[in-house]
Amino acid sequence: MSMSIWVIAEQRNGQLKKVTHEMLGKAKELSGGGEVVAILIGSGVTSQAASLGAYGADKVLVIDDATLAGYSGEAYAAEAANLIKAGAPAAVFLAASTAGRELGPILAAKLDAPYAADCVRAEVAGDSLSVIHPVFAGKAFTQVTFNAGPAIISVRPNAFGLPGADASKQATVESKPFSGSASRTKVLEVLAGGGETIDLTEAEIIVSGGRGMKGPENFPLIEALAKNLGGTTGASRAAVDAGWQPHGKQVGQTGKVVSPNLYIACGISGSIQHMAGMSSSKCIVAINTDPDAPIFKIADYGIVGDLF
Ligand code: FAD
Repeated sequence: MSMSIWVIAEQRNGQLKKVTHEMLGKAKELSGGGEVVAILIGSGVTSQAASLGAYGADKVLVIDDATLAGYSGEAYAAEAANLIKAGAPAAVFLAASTAGRELGPILAAKLDAPYAADCVRAEVAGDSLSVIHPVFAGKAFTQVTFNAGPAIISVRPNAFGLPGADASKQATVESKPFSGSASRTKVLEVLAGGGETIDLTEAEIIVSGGRGMKGPENFPLIEALAKNLGGTTGASRAAVDAGWQPHGKQVGQTGKVVSPNLYIACGISGSIQHMAGMSSSKCIVAINTDPDAPIFKIADYGIVGDLF
């Protein structure tokens, strides 16, 4: 069965995020020959649009306006909803990023559409689209099958894997007018975090430190390991609450949800709230002095020992 699947491209400062390519690859795979359309909203983004064809987009609908430079849930949802209403796709993928966690529910409410958040798998079952996503703060996963559309589906970065790119394929680009939807919020300033080059949610390797790190002076140890492995660092809430690491580094229910290929937990006990943010990592290594630490229940490799 063929179905039209749309993808809301995630970009920051005009640069497309990897999750956009992951979503397009999956959309192409599931569409069964149906049209794959990307929506690209922002300022100065038009030049990037055609390149999405390499990852599976047949067409890209672009709304490019200086007013849309800073992400605004209200404005982005209003613009995307207009396009989705007109195109009536079976499903719409968007990233389960900080922005997407806001955009998805607003969009679903505007379209009176079903919504599944933070999906880690998607497949076609019979004539319907079916997804797997976490419930009860990541304690369990549930399967949802949609019997009405457009299904709004937010996708966890790194969960679908990156498709092979075919640079010879360019998408058809259609510029769409900015409707000028009045937004009650305005981005005044963006305070960038310090010098981090790899986005935690998109990193393929993460080395995280918890209370077992004993203090901020020991974090350079895992920073060096992460750098050598080509990854980045994360932290438990205990390490963040103690002021050892910035909040942007927190992994878990009230931090970032990550799904890297490799997650190394150093001195982290494995509370349910921490595991809600990293249990879908493909390979988990835990280093902990306590053989009964709950993290060992989900670890692929456990080292009972001193992380130092
Ligand atoms: P601890 O639980 O104190 O564990 C430290 C571990 O280090 C221990 O297992 C110890 O054996 C080990 N250790 C000590 N020394 C060494 C050594 N030398 N070598 C190796 N191992 C050593 N937590 C999060 O992480 N993310 C969240 O998003 C989050 N959200 C929350 C939301 C709510 C509503 C609540 C109530 C809590 C939340 N928490 C969250 C907090 C969570 O419950 C835990 O308190 C926290 O995850 C514990 O962090 P930790 O594992 O670093 O510390």
